[in-house]
Amino acid sequence: MYDADVLILGAGPAGCAAAIRAQQLGLQSLIIEPSTAPKGGPGETFHPGIEAIFRQLGILETVLAGGFHRHRGILVEWDGDPVFSPFGSDAGGDWLGWQIPREELLKLARAAAVQAGSRMIAGAPLSLIERGGWGVRTASANIRAPFILDATGRRRWLAKQLGIRVLRRSPRLLASFGWDDAANVEGDPALSATDDGWNWRAPLGKLGTAWVRLRVGVGEGVAEPSSSAGIDVSWRNAEVTCDAAWYLLGDAAAELDPASSHGVLRAMMSGIHAAHGIAQVLRGEISAAQAAATYAGWLRQTFEGEEKELRALYARHPSKLVADAFAAKP
Ligand SMILES: Cc1cc2nc3c(=O)[nH]c(=O)nc-3n(C[C@H](O)[C@H](O)[C@H](O)COP(=O)(O)OP(=O)(O)OC[C@H]3O[C@@H](n4cnc5c(N)ncnc54)[C@H](O)[C@@H]3O)c2cc1C
Repeated sequence: MYDADVLILGAGPAGCAAAIRAQQLGLQSLIIEPSTAPKGGPGETFHPGIEAIFRQLGILETVLAGGFHRHRGILVEWDGDPVFSPFGSDAGGDWLGWQIPREELLKLARAAAVQAGSRMIAGAPLSLIERGGWGVRTASANIRAPFILDATGRRRWLAKQLGIRVLRRSPRLLASFGWDDAANVEGDPALSATDDGWNWRAPLGKLGTAWVRLRVGVGEGVAEPSSSAGIDVSWRNAEVTCDAAWYLLGDAAAELDPASSHGVLRAMMSGIHAAHGIAQVLRGEISAAQAAATYAGWLRQTFEGEEKELRALYARHPSKLVADAFAAKP
């Protein structure tokens, strides 16, 4: 009756991590993804902590072989003199962050998911099947599984089908981004406060430099700011993030602005957590309700911890406009 143990919508960082971990735990996963080839996009800076996730997913060696630019910390130009904030070090040397172009990361994560045995179907779900077990209709087939994971990022396909409310938890934050061929492409990324938000510049080694500009409070009061104004990266979380048979992963569950630099790490961890809980349920070790409660608790704690750190950063913002916007309720 079922086509897989776990049906995953979306092959971004969250969906790929869920698929790989599910396969490692002996489950059959099936991914539906509309984009046949990974596309480039913003979000290439990763905290050194992602290394443990790459190792767990079995992709660390491939990532290391890619020779991507590494950095020792972040230069922060915020509420005083510029401060270099290193990640730290141990007997093995400095802890290093990563600059991995999105397209490259997705290519290797998707390849690893398929190599682990996950089936990947090109396409998009058209509608949700809720009777006789969960599933989705696509243009070519009905696909059913006892568990369904929404890894569609900010599109939140499943969350929308289920009518789950998404709550905004920050002032309106709009981001624009791009890349340039800046000559100084070595070194560490820099986060600099501006009058209305911040600028970010990240050297990508031989690949040039990535930049992001964030503006606070622009488009406030407008239901949907026009896309030409930038991407809306306001902090958001879904009111409910899982139930016995479905889970929201990554950005579909909760989003913070790029100053956190943890979006991909959080997305991958959410996929791993969800797969782990589902495996326990299918082995009869815990109930589906217990797995869902554990996942929801972990997600809330992680999100709220990071949100608190970001709120403290914005409270120190030199522009009163920005600091006041965060002090007020969204
Ligand atoms: C400007 C900017 C800069 C950022 N910088 C960083 C950074 O430096 N470091 C960092 O860690 N994070 C960064 N982020 C955040 C990061 O990009 C996200 O948190 C992360 O990509 C979330 O992963 P995800 O798998 O949840 O979703 P996504 O990466 O959005 O992946 C979703 C996947 O679902 C697919 N999909 C969409 N609709 C459907 C559908 N209906 N059915 C099936 N599949 C579907 C998409 O094609 C895609 O493959 C940045 C974000 C922005 C906007």
